[in-house]
Amino acid sequence: MRDVVILGSTGSIGTQALEVIGQRPDLFRVTGLSAAGGNIKLLARQVLDFRPEVVGVARASAVQDLQLALYAEVSRRGWNRGEMRLPKILAGPTASDELAAYGCDIVLNAITGAAGLTATLATLGRGTTLALANKESLIIGGRLVTSAARDGQIVAVDSEHSAIAQCLRGGRADEVDRLIVTASGGPFRGMTREQMADATPEQALAHPTWNMGRVITTNSATLVNKGLEVLEAHLLYGIDLDRVDVVVHPQSMIHSMVQFVDGSTLAQCSPPDMKLPIGLALTWPDRLVGAARPVDWSTASSWTFEPLDDEAFPAVELIRRAGKLGGTAPAVVNAANEECVDAFHDGRIGFNAITDTAAAVLAEHTSALPERMSAPISAENVPSRMVSDDDLTLDVVLAADRWARERAAQLMIEA
Ligand code: NDP
Repeated sequence: MRDVVILGSTGSIGTQALEVIGQRPDLFRVTGLSAAGGNIKLLARQVLDFRPEVVGVARASAVQDLQLALYAEVSRRGWNRGEMRLPKILAGPTASDELAAYGCDIVLNAITGAAGLTATLATLGRGTTLALANKESLIIGGRLVTSAARDGQIVAVDSEHSAIAQCLRGGRADEVDRLIVTASGGPFRGMTREQMADATPEQALAHPTWNMGRVITTNSATLVNKGLEVLEAHLLYGIDLDRVDVVVHPQSMIHSMVQFVDGSTLAQCSPPDMKLPIGLALTWPDRLVGAARPVDWSTASSWTFEPLDDEAFPAVELIRRAGKLGGTAPAVVNAANEECVDAFHDGRIGFNAITDTAAAVLAEHTSALPERMSAPISAENVPSRMVSDDDLTLDVVLAADRWARERAAQLMIEA
């Protein structure tokens, strides 16, 4: 029996993880759930279905709403109020961090965006296995996160990285030549920059093969997500960034590959369904029987591959560049992107301005030599220039994240 805490339980990954867990009560027990507080009714339903001991909500004002929603759900189910023991409720921006440090076998971090960093560090600090969907925390934390993790403590949930982990079992570390991350190409595959200039949020959210949350779906349209995944693969598996390739594979059946020194390539394939990598992350290194449907090899089908169009989609190279610079560069490009994704959905900027603004913010941040931090970082002492890996601390990353968001908001107005 594994005790599992799910951070971001009301999201796309969180709800699918609960489906996986719900089917195997003999294997898993949910001991904690957390969310931002945007979908309190769903969180209340999850609490009654899974009976966690602790629940966290990032929006402190949502606590009373959650209590009311729990009582309403109890009545709706025709249960007796006396039968229900309310869970302990943690509230405020650090609720998920506290929950992560509570103690359990596995924390699944399925929070979206940079907000997941402190929970990732809290999980690693507690020594708990981290099933990582929140790639942003690894990317922006960089060495801060990798040095906090013991070997094997982070288990990938991203389908590409789960695929790579499975393929890596096929050879020794010194036999690995390259990692090949597959990309569906997103809804705008084959288009030029000019054709994407007027793309609408609805079009950007119409992903051809995956059904995911808003940020990652938009990042899949700009291919920012693929850039983040290249960096994630480098950080997780210690392979040079120049040895992590991207290939476009529109059917999303092969989730990634590992090429070995003898010219052999191992690929992991299965129909696109996050329940497979979620289930594998929760039971790693064992497989979860029946986690997902396998490929139907009896039906004719064709799988195609094409190179990435870096001119139309400059995001992969942009993020690769940030990864090579290290330090605060990845945090800055990620934060600027997150701000721009919101602005795009609010109708404040066009589609191409997302990556263009993120690139402009990164260029500004890295235009001078890395800044040496002579005074402690605070809200007043924000590094506008890059801080290198040597000086990277949580405060530095968070300050760089804040600076990038402010700068992106100024620049996108000018774009
Ligand atoms: P969603 O937007 O669907 O869900 C995000 C979840 O995070 C929600 O439960 C949300 O709560 C919660 N949340 C947001 N901020 C906080 C916070 N500060 N504290 C606690 N909870 C918070 O995102 P996805 O599930 O799509 O993605 C989650 C992560 O997984 C991302 O990093 C993404 O890149 C990664 N991922 C997702 C995949 C997918 O198929 N969806 C595939 C591979 C990786 P609320 O509902 O209250 O707003």
